[in-house]
Amino acid sequence: MTGRIVKSIGGKQNTFYHVMIEQDNEYKDTVIICGSKGVFRKKNIKPLAGDIVEIAIDYNNKDESGVTGMIEKVAERKNFLVRPPLANIDILFIVAAIKFPAPSYYFIDKMTAIAADNEIEPIIIINKTDLAGTDETADIYNIYKKAGFSVIKTSAVTNGGGFEEIKQAMEGKICAFAGASGVGKSTLLNKIFADLDFNLETNSLSEKIERGKHTTRTVELFKNNSGYVADTPGFSVLDFEKFNYILKDNLVFAFPDMSLYVEDNYSCKYAKCTHTKEDGCGILEAVGKGKIAKTRHESYVRLYDEVRNQKEWELKDKE
Ligand code: GDP
Ligand code: ZN
Repeated sequence: MTGRIVKSIGGKQNTFYHVMIEQDNEYKDTVIICGSKGVFRKKNIKPLAGDIVEIAIDYNNKDESGVTGMIEKVAERKNFLVRPPLANIDILFIVAAIKFPAPSYYFIDKMTAIAADNEIEPIIIINKTDLAGTDETADIYNIYKKAGFSVIKTSAVTNGGGFEEIKQAMEGKICAFAGASGVGKSTLLNKIFADLDFNLETNSLSEKIERGKHTTRTVELFKNNSGYVADTPGFSVLDFEKFNYILKDNLVFAFPDMSLYVEDNYSCKYAKCTHTKEDGCGILEAVGKGKIAKTRHESYVRLYDEVRNQKEWELKDKE
């Protein structure tokens, strides 16, 4: 039977997994608690929330919640993140606040690049729109709209729209939310999932205590109709940056609004153009003409510098 890991519980020795059955059979939409075979540990495969797994049901070993099972196979992943431990993410909602805290273009751009490089669709949420005038909101909105991203404006405390758009985007997808502390992620998720059993603490105190204690932080996927949303308490935005590093030659392709100008290979004077400062660079020309937002290119240059300095071992540092 196949299912999706929605939660893992336990430590290094004995981990149990909650597997949601997705197959259309008598167990559809039920959670079966599974162990995993020792073979995974030997091969150094650690099943993650979001993984599609093949399980064998042990009909003799019933606990009060029903049958239990054993994970036999983990399907190939399209992407994975170690912290928070998540596999097969389809959508990364990048949440920014219009103020308190002020948005960081660099952070947003870095997250969109990481998403693109990992085959994840980034969707930008601009929250706290109740705290700013329409002009202020329009500035940031336009930058990302023009760059070709989906952008959703919300106000989590005043029901200022956007919720339906977010819900629609989530349909059938595995979604995660990333954003600086205080931008309103928990408030937003609670509002959106008010009708589900989904209660996140806002400005979570327990989160801070947990972090301090170095306890195991867990991730749980909550089912929402046909999709899942990941609750990642205690993980910071920096954790979300720990995907495999983007290779420097791939970086420009993680900026789809910029790669547009180099796809034919003839738009830059030099074949090895880094698009950071060269004469005759097609991208710099587009920035000059206002076709690419300056802030986007500034982030690209800063990120280029970051990935250029990655050491080989860091590139391999997946665990
Ligand atoms: P998180 O750290 O991203 O999960 O942020 P929280 O959801 O804990 O929100 C941080 C603070 O911002 C709380 O005091 C919220 O009430 C407040 N907040 C969240 N969304 C909004 C919003 O849209 N407008 C305003 N004015 N305040 C908000
Ligand atoms: Zn160039």
